[in-house]
Amino acid sequence: MADQQRFDLLILGGGMSYVGAIRAAQLGLSVGMVERDRLGGTCLNRGCIPSKALLETADLLHRVTEQGAEFGLAGHEGISLDYPALAKRRNAVIEKHVGGVEFLMKKNKVTVLKGNGVLAGPTSVHVSGGESGDVEAAAEHLILATGSAPRALPGLEPDGHVIITSDEALTRDDVPRRVTIVGAGAIGVEWASMYRDFGSEVTLVEFADRIVPLEDPEISKELTRVFKKRGIAIHAGSTIDTASLKVADGAASFTIATKDNGKRTDTTSDVILVAVGRRPLTENIGLEEIEGVEVERGYVKVDEFMRTGAARLYAIGDIVPGFALAHVASHEAVVAVEHLAGHDPEPVRMAQMPRVTFCRPQIASVGLSEEEAKAAGREVKTGSFPFRALGKATIVGEIDGFAKLVADAATGLLLGTHIIGPHAGDLIAEPTFAQVVEATAAEIGMTVHAHPTLPEVLPEAALAVDGAPIHI
Ligand SMILES: Cc1cc2nc3c(=O)[nH]c(=O)nc-3n(C[C@H](O)[C@H](O)[C@H](O)COP(=O)(O)OP(=O)(O)OC[C@H]3O[C@@H](n4cnc5c(N)ncnc54)[C@H](O)[C@@H]3O)c2cc1C
Repeated sequence: MADQQRFDLLILGGGMSYVGAIRAAQLGLSVGMVERDRLGGTCLNRGCIPSKALLETADLLHRVTEQGAEFGLAGHEGISLDYPALAKRRNAVIEKHVGGVEFLMKKNKVTVLKGNGVLAGPTSVHVSGGESGDVEAAAEHLILATGSAPRALPGLEPDGHVIITSDEALTRDDVPRRVTIVGAGAIGVEWASMYRDFGSEVTLVEFADRIVPLEDPEISKELTRVFKKRGIAIHAGSTIDTASLKVADGAASFTIATKDNGKRTDTTSDVILVAVGRRPLTENIGLEEIEGVEVERGYVKVDEFMRTGAARLYAIGDIVPGFALAHVASHEAVVAVEHLAGHDPEPVRMAQMPRVTFCRPQIASVGLSEEEAKAAGREVKTGSFPFRALGKATIVGEIDGFAKLVADAATGLLLGTHIIGPHAGDLIAEPTFAQVVEATAAEIGMTVHAHPTLPEVLPEAALAVDGAPIHI
């Protein structure tokens, strides 16, 4: 007979939901978490953490080998990439942080049930096939957090060697000489940037008319300019003609065709990395049996407190609509927990979620783009400021890019911020906070920023909203 366990809260999927588990424990709830793989999910094991560990080395290598001489370093010519050593570090970083989550679960007395979970009802799960054996777990509330997996592209099915996804790319211990990346969203351009720094010949193929198509068009334009300067071949508005694909002797030959005029480019690559997005993992978890839950194209519909249509059943993370990002998932988990525990959390507001892409130059944004704000019927004014006019950017040696602020034309209320340039991911924290407290561009403009620092780009862009930047 299956073991019976009862909790105040059950969580199905132990990825970023672990943050919600901790919050629930802080609120005095008993928590059970079902996980069939390793704690930490995609982010820690196959996503944010390992990919950024690799990108850190890519950046370091670029700085030393390409900028070393200019910065007065001698002997850098002898420095090269030791990928096995890097792979060892990548694995150590993963282990440290997965171990950290395991420790936090123990510290907060969260019961981790190891095995595959299938809903037996809106707030109960049958766990099987793992270390915990057969368990019937039930709770007052349940949070679904089963995450996502790489989306497949018909005709480019991964074989794990020549045609791969980010999952395989993150476990490989070598750098392909020639790589074609299909999909120029966040994951695609991060790999393009990294492989280029590691010395690969990189080709980027994007079906939309511009790379990073979810960003402000000016950001796409700047990234295209810099990537081309770095020697990355870009085919926007294009696709791989899968009928032309031939895989033999550890390489793929194929034709890249433009959508509109059918221009064709023959290419050979050692690896095709398919990075065309992620699909929510909501099949085979018993969801179709649960009355009231609405699922659209695999995504579970939720309200702003992460409630599904079934009583006491919540859903968070990559399986719900919105930005598929780690900090969004963990924030949603905390809001869900506080709500089900009877507290009064602020609702989840997608417009306040920062997004960062860790290519070089980095990209970060929050809120609406100029286009989106106009489409929403807002009259806007915008201000931009280039990093090249900033003392600190010259010191750092990264002068590409700019910050662009989008503000309401009448009130000056900040509606969106878009940054491409050095440490954009760190710089986005200030405008994110500014949007949460409903600050105006003028208020950022009058806030004194220490000199010389990269954040000085923000008040300058804010002053540019009213046509009066100082240093340009
Ligand atoms: C290459 C890459 C780079 C990324 N970089 C970033 C980044 O820099 N910043 C950022 O914010 N985001 C990044 N992301 C996205 C981020 O990883 C995800 O948004 C985040 O992990 C989503 O969290 P989640 O908890 O919803 O899902 P997941 O992290 O996928 O966790 C879901 C968990 O549920 C488990 N599970 C699923 N079904 C079952 C079941 N039936 N029974 C038991 N367990 C189950 C899975 O094993 C998994 O552990 C990246 C993603 C990738 C792929």
